[in-house]
Amino acid sequence: CGVFGVIGVADAASFVALGLHALQHRGQEAGGIVTYNPEGGFHQARRMGYVRDNFTSREVIDTLPGAIGVGHVRYSTSGDKGPAVIRNVQPFFGEFAIGGAAIAHNGNLTNAVALRRELIERGSIFQSSSDTECIIHLMARSMGRTLVDRMEDALRKVEGAFSIVAMTRTKLVGVRDPLGIRPLVLGKLGAGWVLASETCALDIVGAEFLREIEPGEMVVISAEAGVESFFPFRPRKPRFCIFEHVYFSRPDSLIAGRSVYETREAIGRELARETPVEADLVCPVPDSGTPAAIGYARESGIPFGMGIIRNQYVGRTFIEPTDQIRNMGVRLKLNVNRALIRGKRVILVDDSVVRGTTSRKIKEMVLDAGAREVHFRIASPPTAWPCFYGVDTPNREKLLAATMSEEEMRQHLGVDSLRFISLDGLYRAVGEAKGRDPHAPRFCDACFSGEYPVAPADMLEQGFEM
Ligand code: 5GP
Ligand code: SF4
Ligand code: MG
Repeated sequence: CGVFGVIGVADAASFVALGLHALQHRGQEAGGIVTYNPEGGFHQARRMGYVRDNFTSREVIDTLPGAIGVGHVRYSTSGDKGPAVIRNVQPFFGEFAIGGAAIAHNGNLTNAVALRRELIERGSIFQSSSDTECIIHLMARSMGRTLVDRMEDALRKVEGAFSIVAMTRTKLVGVRDPLGIRPLVLGKLGAGWVLASETCALDIVGAEFLREIEPGEMVVISAEAGVESFFPFRPRKPRFCIFEHVYFSRPDSLIAGRSVYETREAIGRELARETPVEADLVCPVPDSGTPAAIGYARESGIPFGMGIIRNQYVGRTFIEPTDQIRNMGVRLKLNVNRALIRGKRVILVDDSVVRGTTSRKIKEMVLDAGAREVHFRIASPPTAWPCFYGVDTPNREKLLAATMSEEEMRQHLGVDSLRFISLDGLYRAVGEAKGRDPHAPRFCDACFSGEYPVAPADMLEQGFEM
C-alpha cells in the first residue's frame, strides 16, 4: 500500500491526491483521503479504483477542505479481497471521547487475528476485516491522555510491519515499526510538512526531501512545535524489506540515499556476472524488469532491446486479486515485438518469479514470435516463502519455488535456461559489499530465505510451518 499525509498547506486534499497518484504502483484497488478543518470537522472520501478516476475533480476535492490530510492507496494483503469491499478501504477513522483520529497503514500486522479476537471478546465492534482496524480499537481502550499517547500505546501491542501516517485535528503523525520493514519519508512543502511512502510522492507535489523516518521512530508534526521525534519501542536491528529495492518501490524513488533505479541496474549487473549465457538480445519483461535488464546488457555486452512491449493502460497484473484476472492479465498487458525477436537467442530479464504465470505466458509469446532460444534471468532469488509483512504473495503451495527445484522450474516454464541472482549477490547489489551476514542480515529477505524477522504469530496459529 501507499500512504501520504500533509500538514500546514491550504487545500491539503489536492496535495494528498497528487501524492497518492504518485504512489499508485503500491496499490491500485482503492484509495481514500481524510482531512480536517475547524469549521467543518473531519471529512472523508473512500473509493474503489484509481486515484485519477476518483480524486481529481474539484467536486470531490471540495468535499475535503482543510490544511491537514492523510490518504492511502490500497493493495489488499489482509482482509477480504475482491471488488466490493469499501469498508476495508483506508484511512480508518475513529471518533474518541478526546477527539477524532484517522490512520493510513502500509504493511501487515502479524498478530491482528489474535488481537481482534481479544478485542471482540472485550466488546469491540469491528467494521472491517482489515488488520489496521485493531489499532483504532486499541486506541479506544487506551487510557492515554492524548490521542498521540493512545496511538503509541496501541502500537506497542501490535506486531509486524507498519509504516503509518495518521492525523488528529492538529497533528500529523508518522510511525515506522521497530524493524522499519516498509518505507516512510519526510519532506518540507512551503510552510508545511509531508509524509509519504516514497520520495517520488514528494517530487510530484514539489516538496523537498528531508530524511527517512527511522525504524522505530514516531514523528509528531504540528504547526506550533514543528517536527518532534520519539522512539517509543524497544530498539531492534533494522530489517528493511529487500524486495522494495527489487520490485515494490518506484525506480525514481530514493532509498538510503540511492535511487532505486541505480540499485536495480546494479542488480542486473550482478546477475550478469553470476549467470552469463551466450545470446543475441537482452529483453526486459516490462516495466519491473527494465532497469535490471539494462544492467545485465551493459555488464554482458549483449545488445539491449525492447522485445516485449507493454500496454501502458493496464495496471500491475500481480496486484489484481483473483487468479482468473491474473491469467488474462499477461496478454492484456504485454505483447511481443516480433521483428526484434525473430531468429534470436533471447535473454528475458524479470524481477521475480512467483507463480510462474507471467514467465510461462511470455515464453510462449516469445517462442511464437520465432525466438531461437529463451533464457530467463531473474533479478531476485527464488520466491519460496510467503510474505506476511504487506506484499501479497500467495500461499506456499502456489509459489513455484516452494515445491520445485530450479531445474524443475526450468522444465515447467519450458525455457532453455533459468537462473536467479543469489541472495548474497542481491545484498552486494543493494550496497552490502560483503554480501549477506547470515548471523545478522541487514534486510528482511524472508520470502527468499524463510527467515522471518518477526514471527508470523497468526499464521503459526493457523498451522503455517516455518
Ligand atoms: P508470477 O507471474 O510469477 O506469479 O509473478 C511474477 C510477476 O509478478 C513479476 O513480473 C513481477 O514483476 C510481478 N509482481 C507484481 N507484484 C508482485 C509482488 O507483490 N511480488 C512479486 N514477487 N512479484 C510481483
Ligand atoms: Fe519484503 Fe519479502 Fe520480507 Fe515481505 S518477506 S517484507 S516481500 S523481503
Ligand atoms: Mg513484472
